[in-house]
Amino acid sequence: MRKVAIVGWRGMVGSVLMERLRQEGDFKNFVPSFFSTSQVGQAGPEIDGTVYELKDGKDAELLAEADIILTCQGGDYTQEMHPQLRQMGWQGYWIDAASTLRMNEDAVIVLDPVNRGVIDAALNAGIKDYVGGNCTVSLMLMALGGLFQQGWVEWISSQTYQAASGAGAKNMRELIVQMAAIAGASADLLANPATGIHELDRQVISAMRDKSFPAANFGAPLAGSLIPWIDRAVEKGQTREEWKGGAESNKILGNSESAGNFIPVDGCCVRVGAMRCHSQAFTIKLKRDVPLAEIEAAIAGHNDWVYLVENNKEATLRELSPARVTGTLDIPVGRVRKMLLGPEYVSAFSVGDQLLWGAAEPVRRMLGLALNYMA
Ligand code: NAP
Repeated sequence: MRKVAIVGWRGMVGSVLMERLRQEGDFKNFVPSFFSTSQVGQAGPEIDGTVYELKDGKDAELLAEADIILTCQGGDYTQEMHPQLRQMGWQGYWIDAASTLRMNEDAVIVLDPVNRGVIDAALNAGIKDYVGGNCTVSLMLMALGGLFQQGWVEWISSQTYQAASGAGAKNMRELIVQMAAIAGASADLLANPATGIHELDRQVISAMRDKSFPAANFGAPLAGSLIPWIDRAVEKGQTREEWKGGAESNKILGNSESAGNFIPVDGCCVRVGAMRCHSQAFTIKLKRDVPLAEIEAAIAGHNDWVYLVENNKEATLRELSPARVTGTLDIPVGRVRKMLLGPEYVSAFSVGDQLLWGAAEPVRRMLGLALNYMA
C-alpha cells in the first residue's frame, strides 16, 4: 500500500478533511503518517484503534518517504517545504489546500466533478502537484458547471456573500463574540418588549461603533454589518479574491487567453456574518438565448451534488441558505430566471459549504485519484 503523509490535519480545513476521510473509509486505502510543525512527538489522531505519533513536518527526509504528501498546513509551509523536497529529487504527489502553487504552470487546480479531464491528462503527463482551488471559485463551478460544459457562458459576474470561516478559525470566533457583544449591550432593552425600536437600534449601533467592540481580526464589525473587501488589493481596483474568480476558474476549466477561450469572471466579494457557507448571486451572460428549461436541466444534471431549487419563496427559504447547507456537500442553485436585461442574461443564486467543496473535499478526492493512478 502507498504511504501518505498528512500535514496540517488538526487545522480547520484539516479537521474537516479528517472527518471526510473517516466517513468515506479512505484510511483503509493507504498507510497514513501524520506530521505537525508544532506538536512533534505528541499523540496525533486515532485511526481504527491506532494512535499515531506526530512526526516532524519540517523534516524533509522523513516526508520524502511518502508517495503522497497531502497538506492543509498553510501557504508558508508549502513555500518552505515544497521546493526543498523537489530539490532533493522527491518524485511523489504533492496535494495541497493552500494557494501558493495554484497558478504554477506545472500545478493543476483540482475539482474533479468539473475538471476530471484536465486532472487525468495531467496525471498521464507526469504532473505531480495538485492544489485545491479558491473556495468561491470551486463553489461557483460546482453550481454552474453545467453551463460551462455546454459552452454557453460568455461571461459571469458574481456578487459573493462569504462566510467568516474563509478568514480562519479566529475570525469565526470573533463573529460570535461580536454577536454576543451586541446582544449583551442591548439585553436590557430586548427584555422589555415595549422598548421603542429606535432606542434599541441606537444602543446596538453605539455598541458596534465603540472602540471596545471586538474586531481585532476582521478590523471592522461583521455581526450586524458586512465588509466588502476580502484579501489584499491587486491591480485594476480588484481584491485578490475577485481576481481569483477569473484566473482560477479558467485554469480549472483548462481555458486561457492564449487559447482564445478565456471566460471573463468578475464581481464584488463581500464578507457577511455567516459561519462557514459562502453564497453567491450570479449574473450570467450566455452566448445565445437558451430556453430556461434547458438552462435548468444543464445546471441540475452536471454533478451528483448540485440541485435546482424552485424559484419561489417557500423553496428558497427552505433550501437556499447557509443555515440549511452548512456541514453538507449539497450545492443548491435557485432564483434561476431570465433577467430583464435581455434573453441571454440569467440570474442565479447558490450556497455551498466553504470547508467541504470549498476546501477539503477536492483534495480528499484528488488523493483517491492519485492512489488509483498509482495502483
Ligand atoms: P488553520 O486552521 O490555521 O490550521 C493550519 C495549521 O495551523 C494546523 O494544521 C496546525 O498545524 C496549526 N495550528 C496552530 N495552532 C493551532 C490550533 N490551535 N488549532 C489547530 N491548528 C493549529 O488553517 P486552515 O484555515 O485550516 O487553512 C489551511 C490552509 O488551507 C491555508 O493555506 C488556507 O489558505 C487553505 N484554505 C483555507 C480555507 C478556509 O476556508 N479556511 C479554504 C481553502 C483553502 P501544526 O500541527 O503544524 O501546528
